Amino acid sequence: MNKDEFCTFLRSIPKAEVHLHIEAVPTIETLRTLHKKRFGTELSDDAVSELFSYDDLNGFIQSFLKVQDMFTSADDFTYVFDDLAKYLVDNNVVYCEAFFAPSAFLKKGFAYPDMTAVFSRKIAEIKQKYGITVKLLSDVSRTFGCDNAMKNYSLLDEYPCNDVIGIGLGGAESKGPCRDFVPVFEKALKDGRHAVAHAGEDVGPESIWDAVNLLHTERIGHGITAIQDDKLMDSLKQSQIPLEVCVTSNVFTKKYVKSVAEHPIRAFYDRGLFVTVNTDDPVFFKTDLIEEYWRLYSECHFTLAEIKQLIKNSFNALFISAEEKAAFCAQVEKAFCKAGI
Ligand SMILES: [Zn+2]
Repeated sequence: MNKDEFCTFLRSIPKAEVHLHIEAVPTIETLRTLHKKRFGTELSDDAVSELFSYDDLNGFIQSFLKVQDMFTSADDFTYVFDDLAKYLVDNNVVYCEAFFAPSAFLKKGFAYPDMTAVFSRKIAEIKQKYGITVKLLSDVSRTFGCDNAMKNYSLLDEYPCNDVIGIGLGGAESKGPCRDFVPVFEKALKDGRHAVAHAGEDVGPESIWDAVNLLHTERIGHGITAIQDDKLMDSLKQSQIPLEVCVTSNVFTKKYVKSVAEHPIRAFYDRGLFVTVNTDDPVFFKTDLIEEYWRLYSECHFTLAEIKQLIKNSFNALFISAEEKAAFCAQVEKAFCKAGI
């Protein structure tokens, strides 16, 4: 298949995404609107290209924080969810578990319940208009330390919201080791909430071991440095903890992967690890979910049958019942059959 044929075909297949940051979905047009509201001046083309230039994960995080700084009030999330809806529809993503990172907004003085009120209103609207389910994981963040993480977590208790199903540990992996966040993960899992952690994105395999053994993470964000540790590869194969792999993101942040073709996703898949495909931050990394699958097909030699399996993996990695997973996988099978594949 050429790219057009592939993208048209992939668009016909229902998909899930389990590693997406909502603040990284706003279009440039939305960013210009937010900037104008916040600073009263136009966001210049030079400023846009500077915003999207980074050489590593920490540089990217600085840009991420700059985007968060453009928000004036909780209502600005309305733009984010409108862009998210468009992204999900364009990629035929029918179920999405996404991160939002409250720390910077709380520091700016936004009230948590004001934010979740907007989230719930927009998530209900997306469900009603498009039949797409969005669930959120609140980022407890390695960047701001354990006290801040615990504070973020306590908001889930204080302001219960059905759309927020648990926590994610994101932010600067090299600055905030897993061991600092054990109390937050212990509490979240004890409370029956979901808990996932970025690990092995910017730090070696020891970070993944810690996410598994100390945090008992239910999924691993990225996990690419597992490739350096044969024992870890065996352990991940055995446990079948889902890896939320984000190929283009890893190429952009440049730490361990220099090109799509040399990304370890192929080795992970061949070894029998539980691999899912995600975008991480689509606007920042100039990608979308269909483009990610295209890169796997065209540069990493994934066959269409393997891509079908990857798509099913994403549904199987969701925090939903076994029956719901089976129903989504049946839809994927049906859509591939319809296309004669
Ligand atoms: Zn991420």
